Amino acid sequence: MHLKNLTIRGFKSFASATSFTFEPGVTAIVGPNGSGKSNVVDALSWVMGEQGAKTLRGGKMEDVIFAGTAGRPPLGRAHVSLTIDNADGALPIDYSEVTISRTLFRTGGSEYAINGSSCRLLDIQELLSDSGLGREMHVIVGQGQLDRILHATPEDRRGFIEEAAGILKHRRRKERTLRK
Ligand code: ATP
Ligand code: MG
Repeated sequence: MHLKNLTIRGFKSFASATSFTFEPGVTAIVGPNGSGKSNVVDALSWVMGEQGAKTLRGGKMEDVIFAGTAGRPPLGRAHVSLTIDNADGALPIDYSEVTISRTLFRTGGSEYAINGSSCRLLDIQELLSDSGLGREMHVIVGQGQLDRILHATPEDRRGFIEEAAGILKHRRRKERTLRK
């Protein structure tokens, strides 16, 4: 499994549609301070189901929508889609290529899709969590996060270990079931 393409439109500083194609192996994104490198990583977390505005370095979820610049008006929606090569079947779905997408409207609504069929956020989270990707999975180590881990409380540290061991998703499923 590897990430093939990330397309961003109206998300944070990416007003126009911007597409990144990744080859297997290591990809590095370089650029001056403030040019949007971390925004690319935020887009990845977001399309994989991140729900924490703070994790996305904003105050509220709406902050991910392009807010406008001196020469460009704000946009009404943010859209990100991610294509994952699934030739090895790591994702539990019968497609060799899987595209997940997420759209947030300034008016409040959200849309999610897997291979063009609309779905719930939960479907995306479940699809990815079985492969160890996605929401709150520390597959994405953000700027300053190592520092956070070093200074974590014992409880937080236990959380990191549980997640790495794949226990966290079962805990979430259990919590969800108990809420029903
Ligand atoms: P550094 O090298 O300092 O880590 P970076 O390349 O990671 O920088 P980012 O943090 O990705 O930079 O980008 C920050 C820029 O994104 C800022 O200029 C900020 O104004 C812009 N930005 C963030 N959210 C939005 C938004 N909703 N609309 C427009 N621009 C935004
Ligand atoms: Mg950065």
